[in-house]
Amino acid sequence: MTITRFAPAPTGRLHVGNIRTALHNWMLARKAGGKFLLRIDDTDAARSKEEYVEAIREDLAWLGIETDMEERQSLRLERYDAAFEILKAAGRIYPAYETQQELELKRKVLLGRGLPPIYDRGALKLSDEERAAKEAEGVAPHWRFKLDHDEPIEWEDGVRGKQKFDASQLSDPVIRRADSSWLYMLPSTVDDIEMGVTQVLRGEDHVSNTAVQIQMFTALYAAQFSAASGGANELPKFAHEALLVGREGKLSKRLGSLGCDAFRERGIEPEAIIALLARLGTSLPVEPIASRETLLETFDLSTFGRAPAKFDDADLDRINTAIVHQLGFADVSDRLPEGMGEEAWHAIRPNLETVGGAHDYWRIVTGPIELPDFSDEDRAYLSEAAAALEWNDNPWGALTSKLKDSTGRKGKALFLPLRQALTGQNHGPDMGDLLPVLGEEVARRRLERASDS
Ligand code: GLU
Repeated sequence: MTITRFAPAPTGRLHVGNIRTALHNWMLARKAGGKFLLRIDDTDAARSKEEYVEAIREDLAWLGIETDMEERQSLRLERYDAAFEILKAAGRIYPAYETQQELELKRKVLLGRGLPPIYDRGALKLSDEERAAKEAEGVAPHWRFKLDHDEPIEWEDGVRGKQKFDASQLSDPVIRRADSSWLYMLPSTVDDIEMGVTQVLRGEDHVSNTAVQIQMFTALYAAQFSAASGGANELPKFAHEALLVGREGKLSKRLGSLGCDAFRERGIEPEAIIALLARLGTSLPVEPIASRETLLETFDLSTFGRAPAKFDDADLDRINTAIVHQLGFADVSDRLPEGMGEEAWHAIRPNLETVGGAHDYWRIVTGPIELPDFSDEDRAYLSEAAAALEWNDNPWGALTSKLKDSTGRKGKALFLPLRQALTGQNHGPDMGDLLPVLGEEVARRRLERASDS
C-alpha cells in the first residue's frame, strides 16, 4: 500500500510551493490507490500556531486535496524519546557542548582555509573528565547523530536519478537542542517509519537531509526500533522535485506569500491551481484541465524536470479563465447572485474571468441599466424593434433577421443599438443567449424605454 505524506510546519499559511508538494504527494497516493497523510510538524512549540493548523486543513479542503489520515508530531514526543534512547544505546547519538559562537568560529576557520565547514566531532574527542567538567559547570548538551563514515549513502531518486553521498563529507546533524526540544531530522524519520510511509516526495532543498536520514532509518531498523513499533523496515522511495521560482527566476518573497486566501480573493478556482501545479516543471503541457482523473492519468514522476519550475501569475489567470468557462451551474450555484439560474450562467459564463465577475453581469439583467444618448434615427429603430419583438425559442435571431429585412441595417448598425438598449453596454454576453434570460417583458420594456429616451 502506497503511503505518502505532506508534512508542513504550522508556522505560517501554505504558499504555492507547499501546495505543489501537497498536491504531488496526494496525486502519487491517489494514482496508486494508496493513502495520503497530513503530518503536522509542530515540534517547534514557540513558532507553531493552532490557527495555522486550521488554515492548512481548510486550504487543503478548499483545494480538494483530501487527507486520509492526520498526525501531529507534538502528540508523539514519547516516540521520539524512544528512538533517541535506542540510538543512544547503539552509540549513534552523542552529546555535544559547543556554544553557538564556538561552532560559528570553527566554521569560519574551515571556510577561511577553503575547506568545507564540516563539524569536526570535537565533542567525541572529549575525555570523560572533560565531559564531567562541562556537566559540573552546568552546561546542558545538545545532541548529534553520529553518521557512519563507512556506510555508503545511495538512493535512486524518483526525480533526480542515482544519488550518492559520502558520509564523511557531511556534519553529524544536531537532532536535539540543549532544552531537549527536537529538530526536524529524527522525528521525521521516526514518523516515516511508524506511519509506514512508502514514498517521500519533497523539495530538492531536502536532498542532503535525505542523505542523513537514510542513515537514521538504517540505524533504527538495525536497532529493531521498527520491529518493536510495528512500522516499516524498508526504506521509503525518495524523490526531490526542483524548486518553484517566480517568473524572474528567483524564489521571490511574493511567491512565498501567495497562499490560498490570496488566490481565493483574486477569484482563482482551486481547479486552476491544481491544473497548473500538477504539471508545472514537468514535460507535460500545462493545460486548463478541470478533471482530476485526466491529471492523474498522466501524472508521472519521470516527467518531472531538474530545472526550477517557473510559476507565473499570468499563466494562472489564463488557466483560471479557461476553467471558469468549463464550470457547470452546479459547481458555482452557491456563489452566484441571488436569482441567477442555469440559463443565465451559461449566457454569462463565456464572458467571465472569475466566477465573482458574474455579479457585474447579473446587474445587466436585474438593472437598472444606463442608456447612452441615442440618435433620433436609432430611437426610431428601437421603437420598431420593440414592436417587432416576438417570443419564440430564438427571439434574438427572429428579431434581428426581421429588422435586417425591414430596415436594411446590418452589422454594427443593426446590432449595437439593440445591445445598448437591452443591456446598457457596448459589449457583453452573446445576445442570443442573454435575451431569453432577460425575458420578453423586460426586453420589450427596455426597447420601449430606449426609444423614448
Ligand atoms: N516540515 C518539513 C518541511 O516543511 C517537512 C519536510 C519533509 O517533507 O520531510 O520542510
